[in-house]
Amino acid sequence: MPLDAQPIRIAGSRPKKKAATRAHKDNLYARIEETRFNRYVVHDIARYRKYVEDGGAAVYSEAELDALERAGVSDRLPPRATGYYLDLALRSEAVKNLIKARPEEMDDLDGEADPSNQLKYSPVPGLLHKYELCLIYVVRTCSSWCRYCYRSDFLTGKTEKDTASIHEITDYIKGHNAQVDADVITDKPKVREALLSGGDPMVLSNRNLFDYLNALAEAGLEVIRIGTKEMAFYPERFDDNFFQMLDLFHELHPQVLIAFMVHFTHPDEFLRLNEAGEYVTDEAGRFLRNPLVESAAQKLRSRPFVTLENQTPIIDSVNDDADVLRLMQRELKRMGVNNHYFFQCREIEGHRAFAVPVETAWKLHAESQHGLSGIERSRFALSTEAGKMELVSVTQGDERLRAIGGELGQALAEGVVVFRLHRTPFEDRQSDIVIARRNPDALWITGYEDRILYDGRKQESGEKWAALLGALAPELLQAAE
Ligand code: SF4
Repeated sequence: MPLDAQPIRIAGSRPKKKAATRAHKDNLYARIEETRFNRYVVHDIARYRKYVEDGGAAVYSEAELDALERAGVSDRLPPRATGYYLDLALRSEAVKNLIKARPEEMDDLDGEADPSNQLKYSPVPGLLHKYELCLIYVVRTCSSWCRYCYRSDFLTGKTEKDTASIHEITDYIKGHNAQVDADVITDKPKVREALLSGGDPMVLSNRNLFDYLNALAEAGLEVIRIGTKEMAFYPERFDDNFFQMLDLFHELHPQVLIAFMVHFTHPDEFLRLNEAGEYVTDEAGRFLRNPLVESAAQKLRSRPFVTLENQTPIIDSVNDDADVLRLMQRELKRMGVNNHYFFQCREIEGHRAFAVPVETAWKLHAESQHGLSGIERSRFALSTEAGKMELVSVTQGDERLRAIGGELGQALAEGVVVFRLHRTPFEDRQSDIVIARRNPDALWITGYEDRILYDGRKQESGEKWAALLGALAPELLQAAE
């Protein structure tokens, strides 16, 4: 069946084939143990009140809880956190700011219901296919919810995104790859990687997780990524039973690499804090790490088929500090975690309460690179509909150049921003750039769309220069048309 003739499945009508998936694996399941975790997840405001009454960490005052109820923050995203993370929040302002709802989230709900138009890239429910990598929604929750969550539409069910059916996605991947091999599909590469996402795959049981890993490996994938913040929210999840399952998977599929895409937002989530919330160091001044996170990281790193990569947004009042970003990159690398991306906060509904302006975030990230070695550095990027756009530079302007006049004079006087298409679904536009006149207030790429001088996202050369040509010499543009 051609891919564009796939039947449309209504969200929530996921075929239930779990029994069939597992029928032939009973002998394998006997080797997978489950742990009954008690994450003590506090969800929504009434549960917070009860949690505090019962002696839990009082991260909110009564007055704050009243204000949250009046503002109706739960309509956007109910507050949710593990007992472990709330205890940590008592010793860390950054952690507190990440997990605590703010009434001002409701002041301006401007933003995208479906960030970066992801549904456009969803050929079957629960799967996004943009690159040689597929993203798969495997679960609709995390053990805690970041207030800036860029998947909040999925967690709360506001868009029609659904969790994936293992059979549907593996059928799709195998069908797509067969059509690439047969040259029926020529504009997209074979799927080699999958990212298990959601929500957080690490809240699934070991057997559920194994089902996805095993099915994707059997479909011929080379790399399976697991996108997770569980090392910060509940590191005890990485226990012996989990590693037993992971080792069983490796025994069956020794050629498949597992990449843990971890999500640490601030060093307080993985460095050791004393009761006063200060970092603890050894006699040589080296930072010590939170023992639970350290144990999880060490066990992951000890497996040669595993890599660890960190990615996180830069968020107001959480990690918008160059020194914090620098320390994070240094110490993550020392813990064996690669610094993959720092992201601009996505243009989700309510993003104005969390987002740092694009150019400010770039400057913080650029400053944080000073004093880092080559292996500790990272990129700052926006994850847009056109792919990962790395913000490579923001130039100063020179007022004398305003005399040139027009759009060009204005751009040279005020300075420009230069994005690079680091990762894009369009083969012919890889590493092309986008140049736009500066906008220090912009919170997303949309803040530059009316200032573009050169647009490498466009396909034709004439289109790329159209905005500047239209401003400088509209008669040339008309002649070209
Ligand atoms: S861990 Fe990721 S998916 Fe989960 S709440 Fe945070 S940002 Fe959202």
